[in-house]
Amino acid sequence: MATARPVRAMDPYAEQFWAFTQARELRLQQCADCRKFRWPPGPTCDRCLSDNFDWRRIRGTGKVLSWTTFHRGYFPEYPPPHTVVVLELDEGPLFVSVPVEISPRELREGMTLALRWTDGQDRLGEYNLPVFGPMNG
Ligand SMILES: [Zn+2]
Repeated sequence: MATARPVRAMDPYAEQFWAFTQARELRLQQCADCRKFRWPPGPTCDRCLSDNFDWRRIRGTGKVLSWTTFHRGYFPEYPPPHTVVVLELDEGPLFVSVPVEISPRELREGMTLALRWTDGQDRLGEYNLPVFGPMNG
């Protein structure tokens, strides 16, 4: 059985994103007109307002902008202490994720982390969750 996690926010665009994770593919929407990558998924480009896009597989690396450790429990599935990290993906968007294979003490602003996958399950079903760990880990 997959790891229980808080219920995902879901809409028709998020549903497409999560469908790709079934094959462990991290894909973001890229505007078909101005080529900007965007996250979270949505109907229109925030740069040129185009509603044309493609789901592009991304490199899966990003630089640490910030992180925080919650010492209070907000979700029963994530007992404290629970650390989240904000990455600037190589393609541009900011992405909130869970650091793995690294302790919060070892995180540094500007360090590059790489995509890993872990499992997840909520009332919407099972999926794969993109998480981030050290390069060459
Ligand atoms: Zn655009």
